[in-house]
Amino acid sequence: MTSPAPGNEPVVVDDSPREACGVVGIYAPGQAVSHLLYLALYALQHRGQESAGMAVSDGETLTIVKDMGLVATVFDDRMLAALAGHLGIGQTRYSTTGSSSWKNSQPVYRTIGNVEFALGHNGNLVNTVALADEAGFLPGTVESDSDVMAELVAVDLARVGAEARSDERHLERAVARVVPSFEGAFSVVFADEGHVIGVRDPNGFRPLCLGRLDNGWVLASESPALDTVGATFVRELDPGEMVVIDAAGVRSSRPFDDERVNPKLCLFEFVYFARPDTQLYGQGVHHARVRMGEELAAHAPAEADMVMGVPESGVPAAEGFARRSGIPFGHGLVKNRYIGRTFIAPNQRLRALGVRMKLNPLRDNIAGQRLVVVDDSIVRGTTTKAMVQMLREAGASEVHMRISSPPYRWPCFYGMDTGTRGELLAANLTVDEIQSYLEVDSLSYLTLDRLVAATGATGAGFCDACLTGEYPVEIPIDLRRSAAIDGDPARELPADAGLPPVAATGRIRASG
Ligand code: SF4
Repeated sequence: MTSPAPGNEPVVVDDSPREACGVVGIYAPGQAVSHLLYLALYALQHRGQESAGMAVSDGETLTIVKDMGLVATVFDDRMLAALAGHLGIGQTRYSTTGSSSWKNSQPVYRTIGNVEFALGHNGNLVNTVALADEAGFLPGTVESDSDVMAELVAVDLARVGAEARSDERHLERAVARVVPSFEGAFSVVFADEGHVIGVRDPNGFRPLCLGRLDNGWVLASESPALDTVGATFVRELDPGEMVVIDAAGVRSSRPFDDERVNPKLCLFEFVYFARPDTQLYGQGVHHARVRMGEELAAHAPAEADMVMGVPESGVPAAEGFARRSGIPFGHGLVKNRYIGRTFIAPNQRLRALGVRMKLNPLRDNIAGQRLVVVDDSIVRGTTTKAMVQMLREAGASEVHMRISSPPYRWPCFYGMDTGTRGELLAANLTVDEIQSYLEVDSLSYLTLDRLVAATGATGAGFCDACLTGEYPVEIPIDLRRSAAIDGDPARELPADAGLPPVAATGRIRASG
């Protein structure tokens, strides 16, 4: 499980959990919206590096451009200049290697008669199989939950009929009718010829915020995307809120039943996923991460000469640990910023070097030192073990590992790629066993209550299912089974993770 993959398989050289998309929507008459979308997507690149795309409308036609690759690879100046329009949406996507294809890149596009719209999604639905059935997909033909979402909206538009075209708010009404059937995580943006729409699921698993331009509005997964396009942060959308932006301005509505609204922002947005300059629940993420390190130092002190963070997301918590403990902060690892995720390695020696593609030790700072090494999480553990070995080889006399979140024991079904339970180190080993496996002198994790306190938003409502096994939205049996170690969800997932409401009719991959 935690040993390197057998020969000729892709080796994960960064085994952190992966975000699964960033979304943006812009309504800005008189401005070069395609260029603004590009800048916003660039700011959200950390949320997905597999594909990028945008849909832009000039009031008559919706034009989609999308492709595999980074934002800067997919778009060039000529292409952006040709994408004339006053509104649009964009999406940058990450998914598992198996579902990486142009077909699954976004925005998703649909046309019903003369009506056309595009959709960009961040998150994962958990009832995709049931929805696919409802939308009329044959079992096994569904590529992604986002595809099903778009199809259901299209089916609704088709049901309303040809008169929809004459109703300027046809898409808004269809979205409001359809989104209550979605279950799981979805921060989603839509565009048609004249409107930009944003919806945040009733749990608000994934972030979505609203910003103001001089002559327009912006919706974005994270607030730095607003800064990048020169917009002023207005507010985060509430869980269960739908916002429509058009020539009349901005209007907000609540399409979900009140009893479904239960804020559960992904705790790992604070720990790892979001940019440090993002605001979540009104709190700055960087400072929250520094506080996590301070809490960690109070909870699990160590005798050491230097505190260092695992670049880049472990560094703020290391600063906090150093500040609280009084142990000097220093840099012990250099990260290659241009590293891709996987590396095809034919033998053990090249697999080990694959990790060095990402991290290399600063020997002068490490040799002879007792180190506190702070990281945000350990998921599969492969990178951590190799990193510890590197530090030892570079001369570290002691390595005390400190993690600014609790053990990651349960798979995420709400839009993070963390693998199955069988791949999660802490699902299979005790903390003492992990310490032995990693060959560190000591190992401690931050407790959940201290982590939540460090966010500065205690009581705001968080999902912590990957830490506790308590899933806020019921997980159907097919998904539970796909994430279990040996196909026995009753044994491998907690009893309160939800009874099986949906029969498995096919494996649908994460997409949004
Ligand atoms: S299970 Fe974990 S990673 Fe997934 S949404 Fe919940 S807190 Fe975030």
